[in-house]
Amino acid sequence: MERVLVVGAGFMGSGIAQVAAQAGYQVHLVDIEPAVVDRALKDIRWSVEKLAAKGVLKESPQQVLARISTEKDLASAAEVDWVIEAAPEEEELKRGIFRELDRISRPETLLATNTSSIPITRLAASTTRPARVLGLHFFGPVPLMRLVEVVKGEKTSVEVFERGVSFVQSLGKTPLRVQRDIPGFVMNRIFSAAFREAVELVEQGIATPEDIDVGMRLGYGWNVGPFEIADIAGLDTVARVGRSMHALGAEHLALTSDLIERMVAEGRLGRKVGKGFYRYSPEGKRLPSEVAWQKENQ
Ligand code: NAD
Repeated sequence: MERVLVVGAGFMGSGIAQVAAQAGYQVHLVDIEPAVVDRALKDIRWSVEKLAAKGVLKESPQQVLARISTEKDLASAAEVDWVIEAAPEEEELKRGIFRELDRISRPETLLATNTSSIPITRLAASTTRPARVLGLHFFGPVPLMRLVEVVKGEKTSVEVFERGVSFVQSLGKTPLRVQRDIPGFVMNRIFSAAFREAVELVEQGIATPEDIDVGMRLGYGWNVGPFEIADIAGLDTVARVGRSMHALGAEHLALTSDLIERMVAEGRLGRKVGKGFYRYSPEGKRLPSEVAWQKENQ
């Protein structure tokens, strides 16, 4: 059985650990915050039980959960075939993690990053095995979203790139091959361009976030509007990705307004804290606008 280490047990890492365990991989999950790992396990249990109740899980929730072990540090990198890094979108932090992973893991272990914006080549440069480093960019919530971008760094070998494609397929996901390494890859560049304009329209008072979300759903057939996506992703992560795009020279895709930074400073981080562009119940259900309005004005 192949083994996978997931580094970072937040929104994305916990979802990646879950889908890997569901696909039969032995999964190790680590975070620098022990409380985050505990919460991730709870979230995974809740999610697999829900999938089982819908009849879409091949095994019992217990069998899936038994394949996930939690770790206190990166030592298990020495035992795995794959590492998927899902730490916050900060280049220096990720580079430090890659240096450590390169030191601890066997030379043949493949090192993947779930970065939203940072070119793979820059992270691979912190290792002695750039041919074995690639991007696996999942979409959240990972158990529900079927796409994964497989990103080829300048030095990623063709064989490793294709192994990334097969790995994604083994998780039951659809790969999108990103053949050349640029900031934001394909999907985030397209989303960032749309989101930047959507935020600008809100800032100028031209339309509300709700109306733009309805517009994108009804007018362009998106399943979820851009502000709903931002709330699900977490506005702190959206802000980090925006800063990263700017630092990487993709200014034309970075946010022009500081609306998201202001919301983060006010603690409006999105669905995970119950408020962002919308208000949410403790279970993460979006509240009807009248209830949200009352809460805003309490
Ligand atoms: P998150 O904040 O929910 O989770 C990140 C976790 O990493 C935190 O729990 C944090 O404690 C942990 N961490 C920090 N330093 C660490 C270290 N040195 N070792 C181990 N764990 C560490 O963030 P997220 O939304 O899960 O995003 C993670 C990555 O995935 C980012 O690169 C982000 O850009 C990318 N991403 C996010 C989304 C999204 O929708 N949120 C989508 C695709 C990609």
